[in-house]
Amino acid sequence: MNADSQVEKLFLPLRFLKGVGPKRAELLSAAGLHTVYDLLHWIPRTHYDRRRMRRIADARPGDVETLQGVVLSMGVQRTRRRGMTLFHLRLGDESGAIDAVWFRQAYLEKVFRIGDEVIVSGRVDTFHEGLQIKPDEFEIVGGEGYEPIHAAGLVPAYPPVEGFGRKALRRLIHDAVAGYAPLVPDALDPELRQKRGLMPAGAALKAMHFPHSEEEKEEARRRLAYDEFYVCELTLAMRRRGIRHARAGRKLVIGDALDARIRARFPFLLTRAQERVIGELRGDLTADRPMNRLLQGDVGSGKTVVAAYALLAAVGNDMQAAIMAPTEILAEQHARTFGGMLQGSRVRIRALTGGARQSRRGREIRDAVAAGEVDLVIGTHALLEEDIRFKHLAVVVIDEQQKFGVLQRAALRLKGERPHVLVMTATPIPRTLAMTLYGDLDLSVLDEMPPGRKPVTTLFRPESQRGEVMAFVRKLLREGRQAYFVSPLVEASETLDLESATRLHEKLAAELAPHPVSMLHGRMTSAEKEAVMNRFRTGDARALVSTLVIEVGIDVPNATVLVIENSERFGLSQLHQLRGRIGRGAQEGYCILFGDPASEPARERIKAFTETADGFKIAEVDLKLRGPGDFFGTRQSGLPEFRVANLIGDAALLAWAREDAFARVEEDPQLRLGSGPLLRAMLGRRSRARAPLATVG
Ligand code: ADP
Ligand code: MG
Repeated sequence: MNADSQVEKLFLPLRFLKGVGPKRAELLSAAGLHTVYDLLHWIPRTHYDRRRMRRIADARPGDVETLQGVVLSMGVQRTRRRGMTLFHLRLGDESGAIDAVWFRQAYLEKVFRIGDEVIVSGRVDTFHEGLQIKPDEFEIVGGEGYEPIHAAGLVPAYPPVEGFGRKALRRLIHDAVAGYAPLVPDALDPELRQKRGLMPAGAALKAMHFPHSEEEKEEARRRLAYDEFYVCELTLAMRRRGIRHARAGRKLVIGDALDARIRARFPFLLTRAQERVIGELRGDLTADRPMNRLLQGDVGSGKTVVAAYALLAAVGNDMQAAIMAPTEILAEQHARTFGGMLQGSRVRIRALTGGARQSRRGREIRDAVAAGEVDLVIGTHALLEEDIRFKHLAVVVIDEQQKFGVLQRAALRLKGERPHVLVMTATPIPRTLAMTLYGDLDLSVLDEMPPGRKPVTTLFRPESQRGEVMAFVRKLLREGRQAYFVSPLVEASETLDLESATRLHEKLAAELAPHPVSMLHGRMTSAEKEAVMNRFRTGDARALVSTLVIEVGIDVPNATVLVIENSERFGLSQLHQLRGRIGRGAQEGYCILFGDPASEPARERIKAFTETADGFKIAEVDLKLRGPGDFFGTRQSGLPEFRVANLIGDAALLAWAREDAFARVEEDPQLRLGSGPLLRAMLGRRSRARAPLATVG
């Protein structure tokens, strides 16, 4: 058979499968199972171990056993006490006989016949003088050469499909595996398989469903995990190649004069890490293809100024630049930072947030942006609105990208003609993961803090020491410092949350008097929030009580103490983001946690948090504690969902798959050679079945 027809067979619609009519095909389809390929990849959740088969005489009470025998007799009774029906089946082999019993399944009487050869698997118990077995599963042996699949061996347990009993589903998959797994073409050459120690694809599928041993199952799992990674990495490799080969819409020229002009605007000397990353950006921006770069840097590592370089490079080339932040507060802060940095220059800056958009002023800004009369636009996701058009957008920066969805990130890119894109994140992740998630992006890392940072002292304090903590805060306020108090959403309803925030505010205002205390919460209008932030920034308010909204990006260096209430309610990365609000200036910072970490994970989180200040380490622990799905919020991040592969446990396989996939695309960009048709079909299926990957950061 040639490769194409093999591929065709593998992607055969299920309605053509024996025993699947249009009706069952529809049920399968509703579960996302359209073709033979899908069915073969309906991976068991686990396997029941029904391998231990004994003679009936050797069955032991208390054990789970698999027994095989001939039906000697059967009957339905009613239990005396509760009037339940009880079906019993007497099974015998050459060693003895035993009763198998089922409650409330009188219909079984029609299922068995005297003389049937039957396998039952379940728990053996003593009953009166003898033994009986309560089967979890049974199976009638269907004649010469019959291979049991339900009641004996390592039996696959599948995620349920509506409309199918578990046995019907198992039978269907078994037959599909038996019929098609041997035909499955292998996407990997034998040499590559050998090099990576992977079993052939068809054998792996068979063993994943019906393994002979745990070892064989693990080997099969590894092969299928590799395939999942491989397909994912192929997508990334092809996309990346596409981007590499796309001509830059806006190739920039950054001569020494412009470089110097931009740097002259920076109020401090850059760190070596910032210099290095700016060097990387400069290379990208002046190259023939659009930049597509991810910048990872811990909170406070100074990402803004790096972004500023790219933005101003566009402006210096008489083109437009935009930076998008996840909250209005952060957008306003950027607007202020850039406003200050560019004072007296001819750069025209405008801020565009949800609040401002509807107003007349919002419309004016929009028109000016479209006419090219604004150079630098700073905004929230309001920038993505359809009616926002740019005249010549050359550089796009997405700040705190973890807060945006994949599609939002992609949408901003579409505002320009292949603009240069820089996405920034303060949630650093291990390199292997960064590669999968953002594998089509180049990666830059700010791994150095600006000079003069004092470490933040982090302490957990029991409620009994609240008095001392408050005295300490008052002392810092007297010395001229400022304080944050953060309290998570305590109640489910926003009204109640508002109440508790208000109560906390009143309480703190009394305790910290005469220092003025302001409050920030999620139900304020943007104007109100902005006013509060302003009071805090200028120092008119000495303490700020807040719900989550100060989480990202806020920069008030004079605030040196952060008190976190109910700290057990925050995730580890969230806590770290919060802590990033302090220790930003030359003064020593303090982060003090209250709360009641009742659960073990909460205790682990808080322990890890008080013991390390390194954002990369924190992210790693958080990832371990929560797993990738939760950590990234799968939907949100565009993290591909793997059925078999485990992003953490299979990291080594991932690295191989990446290397191999990129090499493959380098050699055969269109996937036309060898197993190319199969790979293309696999890719096609993938893009239909799943949300898009993290396209453009
Ligand atoms: P983040 O990476 O969290 O976005 P920011 O860009 O907000 O960090 O920078 C954090 C603080 O450090 C700001 O107050 C900023 O002005 C300051 N900063 C950044 N780079 C330097 C530097 N090279 N030297 C001194 N201060 C710096
Ligand atoms: Mg920032």
